[in-house]
Amino acid sequence: PSARPDLLVVGAGFFGLTVAERCATELGLRVVVIDRRSHLGGNAYSEVDPETGVEVHKYGAHLFHTSNEKVWEYVNRFTAFTDYKHRVFGKYQGQVYSLPMNLGLINQFFGKSHTPQEARELIAGQASEIATEDATNLEEKAVSLIGRPLYEAFIKGYTAKQWQTDPTELSADIITRLPVRYTFENRWFSDTHEGLPVDGYTAWLTRMAEHPNIEVRLETDFFAPGHDYSAETVKGTLPIVYTGPVDEYFDHREGRLSWRTVDLEESVEDVDDFQGTGVVNYNDQEVPFTRIIEFKHFHPERVKTHLPGKTVIVHEYSRFAEEGDEPYYPINTAEDRATLLRYRELAQAEPMVLFGGRLGTYQYLDMHMAIGSALSMFENRLRPHFGEGAPLTSGGIE
Ligand code: FAD
Ligand code: UDP
Repeated sequence: PSARPDLLVVGAGFFGLTVAERCATELGLRVVVIDRRSHLGGNAYSEVDPETGVEVHKYGAHLFHTSNEKVWEYVNRFTAFTDYKHRVFGKYQGQVYSLPMNLGLINQFFGKSHTPQEARELIAGQASEIATEDATNLEEKAVSLIGRPLYEAFIKGYTAKQWQTDPTELSADIITRLPVRYTFENRWFSDTHEGLPVDGYTAWLTRMAEHPNIEVRLETDFFAPGHDYSAETVKGTLPIVYTGPVDEYFDHREGRLSWRTVDLEESVEDVDDFQGTGVVNYNDQEVPFTRIIEFKHFHPERVKTHLPGKTVIVHEYSRFAEEGDEPYYPINTAEDRATLLRYRELAQAEPMVLFGGRLGTYQYLDMHMAIGSALSMFENRLRPHFGEGAPLTSGGIE
């Protein structure tokens, strides 16, 4: 067995690897990172399909974007980015529209050309039944922003499939990032920086862990007994950054936090190009899947390495996560929020353990947010602890 590390990180996703890399590089600490999966990278993990040469994101399509300069500078230490700009199309009643809501979609949907000013007036009229500041749920928020006709076509059916919950019972936050633009701009993200890692997510994540002071142990579950870093042996003896599910850490003693999962049905199709773009949403409620991803379109610059005549696609089906399913989207009902508060108290009192990442905080975090929050944990908790001896219990969940 190797010498005792200074820090144990549970989870080799973006959060855990950022913490490990910072502690090893900046403070010279010895860090062990464990993950129960057979690969590092967490949900951003991808691999090249051996038959077609296409990079497949194994836990759903991952598009990198950020307006956070610190994060952008940090991630560029490990990878270069392509100039890919994400665009999403939506199928509804036999037609294809360019999302998000923009002048092109509005003109096509209403069958008439509008100037930006005319479109604003049209949508303002349709959205006037409720003021955005009075909206208390997803349906009201959406109608207040885009009006009822567009809501019913592009949001209602898709959201029903994604959440299987009445949109009047869903939090308005879920669609906060769905913009309406009175121009023809159809980029999906509005961030300053956007692109895909030139040689893939796994190469990027592997480089983050390539420090002589970092050891990654895969297929090692923190809660399984009988290994050097099992919870029962190390709790209280070693500083720990834990990025697994917070309710699991406490043995679900305050109840289970609810999640949605996605069944990703991957197939190789015998056509060169299945849909002409990376992501097509299926907005009709009757179609059982929410969207189809065609991965080769994320990397047009790799065309020479892709096998002609074949393509890899994934149909996404969303459902409630049962025990054993991958937790993907926190549902965040009022009951979940109450449960989370109880776990936060427990987490704050847990000696020598910091909780982070999307599972450890029960928050939907984009990659740049997970990385940004790990950088903050390093600066605000870990550096003061290892550098100046500040206690590690303060703060709890980041
Ligand atoms: P994770 O990546 O989940 O890593 C946590 C790790 O902890 C996992 O590897 C897990 O195996 C391990 N672990 C848990 N419990 C234990 C245990 N007991 N013992 C050992 N190991 C354990 N973000 C974007 O910016 N753009 C996107 O386009 C995007 N698309 C997404 C699509 C989907 C379907 C989903 C679900 C997420 C998407 N995200 C996207 C978000 C992105 O996946 C997260 O920001 C990122 O994964 C967060 O990293 P993390 O380290 O917090 O968690
Ligand atoms: N949404 C929708 N119609 C669409 C795309 C998104 O109604 O065509 C809503 C839906 O409620 C979804 C939310 O917006 O859950 C966020 O969508 P996004 O595609 O950003 O989420 P992702 O699944 O990629 O995290």
